[in-house]
Amino acid sequence: MEFKVYAKPEPASFRKHPNLPDLEKARAHFSWDDVGRELSWLPGGNLNMAHECIDRHATGTRRGKIALYWEGRDGHTETYTFAELKNLSDRFANVLKVLGVRKGDRVFFFLERIPEIFVALFGTLKLGAVAGPLFSAFGPDAIRDRLADCNAKILITSPELRGRVEEVKSDLPALEHLIIVDKGGREATPLKHYEIDYFRAMEAASDHFVLEPTSPDDFSIIHYTSGTTGKPKGAVHRHKAILGQYLTARHVLDLHEDDVYWCTADPGWVTGTSYGMFGPWSIGVPLVFFEGPFSAEGWYKILEKYKVTVWYTAPTAIRMLMKAGEEIVKKFDLSALRHMASVGEPLNPEAIYWGEKAFGLVFHDNWWQTETGCMQIANLPTMTVKAGSMGRPLPGVTAAVLDDRFNPLPNGSEGLLALKPEWPSQFRTYWNRPDVYDSRFKNGWYLTGDRARTDTDGYFWFVGRADDVINTAGHLVGPFEVESALIEHPAVAEAAVIGKPDEERGEIVKAFVSLRAGFTASEELEKDIKNYVRKRLAAHAYPREIAFLPSLPKTRSGKIMRRLLKARELGLPEGDTSTLED
Ligand code: AMP
Repeated sequence: MEFKVYAKPEPASFRKHPNLPDLEKARAHFSWDDVGRELSWLPGGNLNMAHECIDRHATGTRRGKIALYWEGRDGHTETYTFAELKNLSDRFANVLKVLGVRKGDRVFFFLERIPEIFVALFGTLKLGAVAGPLFSAFGPDAIRDRLADCNAKILITSPELRGRVEEVKSDLPALEHLIIVDKGGREATPLKHYEIDYFRAMEAASDHFVLEPTSPDDFSIIHYTSGTTGKPKGAVHRHKAILGQYLTARHVLDLHEDDVYWCTADPGWVTGTSYGMFGPWSIGVPLVFFEGPFSAEGWYKILEKYKVTVWYTAPTAIRMLMKAGEEIVKKFDLSALRHMASVGEPLNPEAIYWGEKAFGLVFHDNWWQTETGCMQIANLPTMTVKAGSMGRPLPGVTAAVLDDRFNPLPNGSEGLLALKPEWPSQFRTYWNRPDVYDSRFKNGWYLTGDRARTDTDGYFWFVGRADDVINTAGHLVGPFEVESALIEHPAVAEAAVIGKPDEERGEIVKAFVSLRAGFTASEELEKDIKNYVRKRLAAHAYPREIAFLPSLPKTRSGKIMRRLLKARELGLPEGDTSTLED
């Protein structure tokens, strides 16, 4: 997908801010060692993200500073200082220790957006264990695939969500305990022998914990991400990822001591950890964390109430706000807001122009992915924004557009978006899949899986995915995962899944299905199949459209041709069909 750049006169706010230092010049003198000197480190060259994000503030001048403003879905609010978070995360590290968790063990999080996720996740990092966040919309199959893949030992969840885990618990022999966070006693259910009450365990735990020594290269967090083939793969990051997150939170999000910052991403995804936790807290900036669902009024209320100064969100949300209209924005006092950024999907120029009108500010697009751990290409506050462009590679990043033989292409040509390894927040491997990890590196480049082009000013323009992965509302969905869930439905014989362009969500998941003998297509069956995938896999990944076909087009070797289905759906040329089955 390529965006038209509108031939509009450039508003003043799209132009580079004249008084800010030019980061482009900083590229020439850039060194990761210099960035490292801005962090506090631990004896023996050790580095721990929890120390950088919490402990060093809690033991210094920011100890009484509010680190977290939480607002629950029922309007209940809580605040936490850095000192309180240190105490709580130390306790949680002790809870895990008592349960026999050791350095390197995998501890997973399947929670709503509640403050305990911060406490538990940073406690996990203090122990040197590997944190695995899950999106709360996942169904039992998605949970099982991830936990089984890396033999997770502990899962922290809530009374509302644990039922989905119970369904697959027998497939997870390595999972020893569920820690249940019954926030506000929302749902009192008796605990099973392997379940532990979070609040009781926290009360009993000591608040004295000495950080397990972790080297910069020790694993810190694992985020599962979807590819074209196979089940999602666990991209593993190291403690030293904090260098990249710190740098970009400072210069791309432009965070400073007095800011109040809101990242709307869920902690189940990489944006929700890299920039919903690590980047801002490495600078000591307070976060707003909102549990409630999306609504234009609800979101503006949060911006107003907490006097948010820097806001990081995503194109689908911006498009939904656009739909709600500009008038509603005017009902709120958003005068504290001074910087806005967006990530996860292409940001249409229309959304940028609307933002300019509605807020008097420009959404600054930036590009990165689970594997990169931090932003790589961005529109900095110091740069002229070109609506529709992801921006320019950051200091410390070498990006290029490559041809199919992995050689750099000249400006203007479309090709594979690639990065020069290696940077501190680059993923270290895919859990259990070193072969897939190796396949992402060619000719000295890391292949991102995206297609892009550059212009003569060095700006990068997103063109599309180089593979079949679907980006729906900023969430990557692998067609294989959805197809696997579909064919488990008793009526489905074969299934193929594509991304269909959608005005609001960028893409939606569309499935083509052929039925087993004895079943006939009907609206009811369609609903039933949709519901089945929604419940088993994830609420964001089910096919919003299903087309029933007598059979699906296949190659002579029996592979379903998604490409052909997509071309037919979009009315595009069908390309080479010589391998198509007769
Ligand atoms: P994830 O790994 O789930 O964070 O998804 C990363 C993918 O989302 C990238 O590889 C892109 O395909 C897409 N993406 C992220 N940011 C942008 C952006 N600013 N413009 C276009 N696509 C983006």
